[in-house]
Amino acid sequence: MAIQLPGKVKCIIDTLEEAGFEAYAVGGCVRDSMLGRKPEDWDITTSASPWQVKELFPVTVDTGIKHGTVTVLIGHEGFEVTTYRIDGEYEDKRHPKEVLFTSDLLEDLKRRDFTINAMAYNDKKGLVDAFGGARDLEDKNIRCVGDPVERFTEDALRLMRAVRFSAQLGFSIEGRTKEVIPALAGNLADISAERIQTELVKLLVSGHPEELRTLYETGMTKVFLPEFDGMMATPQNNLHHCYNVGDHTIAALGYVRPDKVLRLTMLLHDVAKPVCKSVDGEGIYHFYGHPERGAQMAREILQRLKFDNNTIGKVTALIRWHDHRPKLEEASVRRAVHQAGPEQYPALFEVKYADTMAKNQYKREEKLAYLAGYKKIYQEILEQKQCLGLKDLAVNGKDLIQLGMEQGKGLGDTLDRLLSHVLELPEDNTREVLLRLALAGETGTAPKQQGTGRYYSGG
Ligand code: ATP
Ligand code: MG
Repeated sequence: MAIQLPGKVKCIIDTLEEAGFEAYAVGGCVRDSMLGRKPEDWDITTSASPWQVKELFPVTVDTGIKHGTVTVLIGHEGFEVTTYRIDGEYEDKRHPKEVLFTSDLLEDLKRRDFTINAMAYNDKKGLVDAFGGARDLEDKNIRCVGDPVERFTEDALRLMRAVRFSAQLGFSIEGRTKEVIPALAGNLADISAERIQTELVKLLVSGHPEELRTLYETGMTKVFLPEFDGMMATPQNNLHHCYNVGDHTIAALGYVRPDKVLRLTMLLHDVAKPVCKSVDGEGIYHFYGHPERGAQMAREILQRLKFDNNTIGKVTALIRWHDHRPKLEEASVRRAVHQAGPEQYPALFEVKYADTMAKNQYKREEKLAYLAGYKKIYQEILEQKQCLGLKDLAVNGKDLIQLGMEQGKGLGDTLDRLLSHVLELPEDNTREVLLRLALAGETGTAPKQQGTGRYYSGG
C-alpha cells in the first residue's frame, strides 16, 4: 500500500532520516489516506527527541514539548512532530502521570486508541500495521488497541471518540469494544468540557449525526448532556409529532447541513420541551414557551461545555425564533426579521425546514408551502433593500439632535417609533419623511398594511 505523502511531509521525514532518525506519518492521516479521504492534518512520529527536532528545522514552535510535540513550520504550514512515546500510568483517567520517550515505534503505536489510528507510514518502510488496522479499515470496524477496559479506563474520552469515529466513517464499533462502554461511561465525568466539546462537534457535523443515539444508549449523554436523556423520556402526544422529543431531535439533525451552528441548533432546539410540557383536557401535549426557555437552557448548556460566545449567540438566537411564524405579508415578515435579527437569516429557514421534516406528515405540504412563501417575501424584502433595523433607517440620533431633540430615552423612543413606522411602510424611509414625522410626532399611526393574500398562512 503506497500513500501519497505531501511534499512538505516527505521533506520533514527525509530531513529526520538523513540525520539518522526514524520518522513516519502516523495516525489519522494514514487512516484517511487509506480510505481515500483527505487528511485534515499530517502528524509525524519520530525517534528523534524534541530537542533534536528543534535543531534540525529552522522554524519550530514548542506546542507540547513536555509530551514530545514540536510543531515544524514550513512556509505558513505547521506539522506536529512528536517523539515516540510511552504513556506512563494514568493518574486521573485523563492525563498520563508521565510521558516516557522511547526509540521503539511499536511502543508508540501501542498507546494509540484504535487499530485504525495506530498505523504509521513512510516511503522506505511502507505501512507499519502491528494491530490489524488495515483489516479493520476493510471490515469497517472501530476496535481498541489491546484490552478495551484498560484503554477506556486510561482515558475515558476514548469512549466518545469510538462513537465519533463510527459517525465520521460509518463504521461499527467492534463487539468487545462496544460491549464494555456502558459500564465505563460514568468515567466521562472526569473529562474536561473542552475535550468533550471537540468530540461532540465532530460527531454532530459528521455524516452520521444520528450516532448521537449511541451516546445516549451507552449512557454517555447522561454524563455530559443529561438534558438529552430528558428529551428521550418526553413523548409528544399531539397531531404534529410521531416521535418523542429526543427522537425528533435526532431526525432533525439529519435534515440540516453538516454545519456546527446548525447542528447544535437542532440538537438543542427543543431542549426545553420536557420542562414546558402541559397536557390539556383532551390529553394533548403542549409545550408553550419552549423556544424562549430553550434559548436560555441552551445558553447554560453551551457555556457549561465551554463553547465560544459567538457560537452560543448564534445558536441561542436560532433556537429562540425557530418556532416563530409571522403572517405571510410583507410587514409581518419585516417585523419578524427585525425581531430575530437579519443576521439569523437565511439559517433560520434551514432550521425551520429540518424541524418540519422531522415531524410526521400531518399538514407537511402546507407547512412547507408556508415556509416557501416566507422565504419568498424575505427575498423580495432583501432585493428591495428595505429597512430592517435602526442601522438601515434614513435618519439617526445625530439628525434628531440637530432638529433640537435632546439626547436620552426620548430620542431612542422616537427612533424606535420611526423604525416601527418604516417596517410598516418601507417607502417612508427617506430623510425628509422621517424628519417630518419626528417633528410632528406622527409616527406609529400609519394604517396597518393589508395582507397581499398571495400566500398560504398557517403551519
Ligand atoms: P481527526 O481527523 O479528527 O484529526 P485523528 O485520528 O487525527 O482524527 P486526533 O485527535 O487528531 O485524531 O489524534 C491523532 C492521533 O493521536 C490519533 O489518530 C490517535 O492515534 C492518537 N490519539 C489521539 N487521541 C487519543 C487518545 N485520547 N487516546 C489514544 N490515542 C489518541
Ligand atoms: Mg488529527
